[in-house]
Amino acid sequence: MGRALPVLEPTLVLKGKGHREVLKREMDAGKIPLSLGKNCPVKCEFCYELDHSYRETLDPPKTTQDDWEFILSYINSKPTDPMQFWCLGGNEYMEWTDLFLHPKAMEWVEDFLQHTDKNITFFTVGFVHVPKLHQLVEQYPGRINFELSVITLGSYRERLMPHAPSITHLMKVLDGPAVSAANFYSFDHHTMSKDAEVISQINQKCVLWMGCLTPVRGIKEETAALMRQGRQYLPAEAMRIYDAGYPNLTSIHTESYVTAFLNRKRIMSLFDSLELEKQDTVVMAGNVYKILNMYRKNRARFWHVPNATLGGDTDCTGLLTFEDIRKRLGNEKRIHIPKCVMESGRGPYTDIAGVTLEEFMKKTGVKVRILHKIDTKFANTRLYRNGSLKNFVEDYVRNPLSADYERLPLSA
Ligand code: SF4
Repeated sequence: MGRALPVLEPTLVLKGKGHREVLKREMDAGKIPLSLGKNCPVKCEFCYELDHSYRETLDPPKTTQDDWEFILSYINSKPTDPMQFWCLGGNEYMEWTDLFLHPKAMEWVEDFLQHTDKNITFFTVGFVHVPKLHQLVEQYPGRINFELSVITLGSYRERLMPHAPSITHLMKVLDGPAVSAANFYSFDHHTMSKDAEVISQINQKCVLWMGCLTPVRGIKEETAALMRQGRQYLPAEAMRIYDAGYPNLTSIHTESYVTAFLNRKRIMSLFDSLELEKQDTVVMAGNVYKILNMYRKNRARFWHVPNATLGGDTDCTGLLTFEDIRKRLGNEKRIHIPKCVMESGRGPYTDIAGVTLEEFMKKTGVKVRILHKIDTKFANTRLYRNGSLKNFVEDYVRNPLSADYERLPLSA
């Protein structure tokens, strides 16, 4: 039961600011901030941005040639890191859209490659000019990372993304050197596995990036039900693909508690190195709660905080907000919070909604010890290291231990 404390509201940072301020903030975070000047017209049923009211955004007008020159010169003023890929899409202070719907997007991608020495990564549901893109990839080897959001090629496509490019067009995008990774998901029997077969026949070099989608707040109930159905079929679908032995590299993005299981040894050794006492209260979402409850029961007070801000089925510690934590507070005077909660794109010691650690402590009176070792880098590195299809099938689907793990309750 929560105690009566003021709701934590983020400090608004864009109020009264011009749109170039937004562009600069995005670029300081490694983004190439094109704007369509409107909401995403593709209107995918599964879009995670259907309700993004948890964070402050300000959408600039449609990017003009003048804006583009400003963007290019600002990016050029930044030092070049050969490991960095500037990201076209996935903004923080602007609503996400498919940026390849901007009529100048292809031309500006070419400008970027020609007038900077930096790399670029982008994702789209496929609105690209096919011959141009294949040509650019050949002309600028190693500088483009293109993640094609296939989502599904089967019968659910029309229902989930009626305004997306046709399958015929996607096949042309896939047929050539451009696509680095194709992502698609399990929704039913023979959805993800069929797509893997089709994609691998056309392109053996792109990474097959698969898994299931997690419902979040704002997604319609019937769409959420389809996502949950996909989760049930994921093990069988993954085994079909594994047994088929395609030459492509593979990656599985599954529920975060499964990812936690696949990384259980490292999570436990990291937990042990924190030297926590039994009475210490440690904030965590369902994913880590489940694993620590199985392997380190009663070694500390594992405090399961639901991801109320993002809602849906999210249970990921890195996506918790201070407001989620505030809602769960009882008589706690001191709590331990993993650093990944306060490493969002909105700034240091700030959560995904824009509330700072300082505001949390001031308004709740609760003291916080930050668990510095549990940071975003740790979470991301682990996710990719153990995220292959092989690992998922051998260490989860075919591991007898995972059945006990599945049965463990999530709540505290
Ligand atoms: S194309 Fe991307 S941003 Fe646009 S609605 Fe679909 S998922 Fe959302």
